[in-house]
Amino acid sequence: MVLDDLGSSLRGTLDTLRGKSRISEEDVDEVVKEIQRSLLQADVDVSLVMDLSDSIKERALEEEPPGGTSARDHVLRIVYEELVGLVGDSTTIPLEEQTIMLAGLQGSGKTTTAAKMAWWFSKKGLRPAVIQTDTFRPGAYDQAEQMAERAEVEFYGDPDSDDPVQIAREGLEATADADVHIVDTAGRHALEDDLIAEIEEIEATVDPDRSLLVLDAAIGQGAKDQAQQFDESVGIDGVAITKLDGTAKGGGALTAVDETGSTIAFLGTGETVQDIERFEPDSFISRLLGMGDLKQLTERVERAMEETGDDEEDWDPEDLMKGEFTLHDMKKQMQAMDNMGPLDQVMDMIPGMGGGGLMDELPDDAMDVTQERMRNFEVVMDSMTEAEMANPRSIGASQVKRIAKGSGQPEETVRELLDQHKMMAQTMKQFQGMGDGDMQRMMQQ
Ligand code: GDP
Repeated sequence: MVLDDLGSSLRGTLDTLRGKSRISEEDVDEVVKEIQRSLLQADVDVSLVMDLSDSIKERALEEEPPGGTSARDHVLRIVYEELVGLVGDSTTIPLEEQTIMLAGLQGSGKTTTAAKMAWWFSKKGLRPAVIQTDTFRPGAYDQAEQMAERAEVEFYGDPDSDDPVQIAREGLEATADADVHIVDTAGRHALEDDLIAEIEEIEATVDPDRSLLVLDAAIGQGAKDQAQQFDESVGIDGVAITKLDGTAKGGGALTAVDETGSTIAFLGTGETVQDIERFEPDSFISRLLGMGDLKQLTERVERAMEETGDDEEDWDPEDLMKGEFTLHDMKKQMQAMDNMGPLDQVMDMIPGMGGGGLMDELPDDAMDVTQERMRNFEVVMDSMTEAEMANPRSIGASQVKRIAKGSGQPEETVRELLDQHKMMAQTMKQFQGMGDGDMQRMMQQ
């Protein structure tokens, strides 16, 4: 995601302020320079970068730090607030009945995002419906229908109609029982007048509670014109950034947020319906500044456990912070991982583990548990006794031999599993020593 790189460099710079009680102009310049470099690299609009840096500089030097605040915490709080402002504000898409219309150019990811959002709302206990009004792109109807099916959500479209306004109207009637209506619209290759006229008509018919502009993360400065035009015609209340799995940039989306005075609403990180996150500015920026984000992690784990269908044993990510990390924990984690996404992404959400944190100190393969390895590991674990699962350190050479034989796996796999467990247990141990004290301290100010 845009700004990812900012996190580690900025944390380093802020750390040089540790122990200082007063802040000098040079100190602030240093911090601001890091921010500028990183934002420009991510394609954020130059004037936006300048405004932000001026504001940070001015506030850092002029505002009086609350009593007892160190120079570092003072600057950290200001950077935090300004960056939250840059990605929108603290508002998130609410969990309530609503109609959302999607706008954007062809290929930006609207149809995919519509299904993903519907999936997301359904996981939150609401009843969503996707209404496909794109009569322009061949295959849009089929694609939307298939994705809605995968997301297991209600769908309305009419492949025989060429009147998007009528489809929108009928779609709302046909799905009246749904709580959240997501109306997908046609995109074109560029902003053509007829596209604008059409979406205005749909908007008038649908009367959405919010309209989201769907933007490909790779878009650079082109975002500005698009955002302006869509905002003028239908009013943009938020931006959904797609294809974040493909780029570390995404600065264009921030330009769009600024241009429309809106906020980032959702992030798309892959092609399947589950690859979506609701954007939460506060937790995103805290994560970025190395303060971790247990809330999102908990949410992911809950979702993953739900899908693993394992509700017998409560497994809470916060348990990882206490007690011994056993093979049982590792197995649960592996099972949940399929649904949670790659472990390194999950680790990024844990305080002190993300970029610049512990992850960087671990050997590259420490988190590399590919699906095939995971399957082999599970088979191996099935051949272990309860005592071995609870206390893997007790497993000696003769047991390795027995387990390998019992599971039909080479001894090497058993040893690899034990090594992997050891590395993960060590990581968890280091993690236990950390808290989100930084975050709490900051929030108290
Ligand atoms: P639309 O024309 O705006 O409706 O765009 P589509 O939803 O058809 O998306 C265009 C292409 O982008 C499709 O091939 C999607 O699978 C792909 N896509 C959409 N969102 C994402 C994403 O978050 N990550 C990746 N990797 N691909 C995406």
